[in-house]
Amino acid sequence: MTLIRSWLAAANDPACPFPLNNLPCGVFSTPGTAPRCGVAIGDSVLDVAGMEKAGLLRIADAPLLNTGAWNPLMAAGPAVWERLRSALMGHLREGADTRDQVEAWLQPLAGVTLHLPFAVTEYTDFYAGRNHAFNVGTMFRGAENALPPNWLHIPIGYNGRASSVVVSGTGVRRPWGQLKSPDHELPAFLPSRRFDLELEIGAVVGQPSAGPVTVAEADAMIFGYVLLNDWSARDIQAWEYQPLGPFQAKATATTISPWIVTKAALAPFRATTPAREKPLLPYLEEPRPMLYDIDLRVDLAPAGGNPTVIARTNYTEMYYSAAQQLAHHTTSGCPMRVGDLLGSGTISGPTKDSRGSMLELSWGGKEPLSLNGGETRSFLEDGDTLTLHGACHGAGYTIGFGECSGTILPALTDPYAR
Ligand code: CA
Repeated sequence: MTLIRSWLAAANDPACPFPLNNLPCGVFSTPGTAPRCGVAIGDSVLDVAGMEKAGLLRIADAPLLNTGAWNPLMAAGPAVWERLRSALMGHLREGADTRDQVEAWLQPLAGVTLHLPFAVTEYTDFYAGRNHAFNVGTMFRGAENALPPNWLHIPIGYNGRASSVVVSGTGVRRPWGQLKSPDHELPAFLPSRRFDLELEIGAVVGQPSAGPVTVAEADAMIFGYVLLNDWSARDIQAWEYQPLGPFQAKATATTISPWIVTKAALAPFRATTPAREKPLLPYLEEPRPMLYDIDLRVDLAPAGGNPTVIARTNYTEMYYSAAQQLAHHTTSGCPMRVGDLLGSGTISGPTKDSRGSMLELSWGGKEPLSLNGGETRSFLEDGDTLTLHGACHGAGYTIGFGECSGTILPALTDPYAR
């Protein structure tokens, strides 16, 4: 696939994250206007809500875009998704005869506020990265028993909190919780000392299900993907997780990037899951490639300091695709709804500099990481800004997600002080 040229010059730059090939979906506002649907192109956001109102985008019988979430468009189904994409291609292509009408609906990206792109209906987080699961298992159980016995058979997950999902740029307050030191007999209520990030990709479910679906049907239900940081308090988790899994350790916040990159934009970058180490049950088999070749990077910038790249990896490190996870999610009959968000699980590569969490990068705090400015880190400090980046590299173009960023705010003095 090569660059599809636009009359908007900025969109044709090979390094621009938002060429015509991308057309990611966000929600934006300007001073004095309500949040509404927009599509990123070049250095601008296209007010597709305004275009629909003005009669320039006729994609369905009723208006879908003049609202603060992409859920109505997603609910309208894949035929409407495709109609929107091809209508925008027609309007923005080099030589388009509607250029004069469309130009009036562009706003510079630099001047808009971006909001959560969709209403998160429910949030499930998986644990489907082979290297991450192996690293964490090795730290806690030794390399011999690193992977739990079910891991190569089931995409393991837990039900998270949709209410805690925030858009990039939102501050993340260090949580308090029950911590239990091995040196003490009793737990204490304290601010987390081992607050961490998790580099993940989130899949956005765009169609509902009633009853079990196949992997192919699950793939068709996915509208697109976002970058996702599943903030994690390791010390809270260590004390609370047995036997039901993470609870408060993962409930502070989950940050997502402001743009949903659609499945259509990612299609040229489809990749297969790694070779199976044990055969999967037939319902989990992948009928065609359902992962994507997305380069990922994590930057850590201390308060007032320059960023250091702390990890580089790729989404193809996942052992299970989002479609496999979604199919597994429905096996019980669990109904999925429009706006459900599925976290991939932490994405770590095989090498030390490709690990997607501080827990792995500092090996449980035993090997602190050196930053460019001379500081070291085992876990995150107050004022640290963590930024995830994602990009697919085509021939002469880039598909970007926008930044997924958050700054750690100091813990409250005492959350129960009244
Ligand atoms: Ca996670």
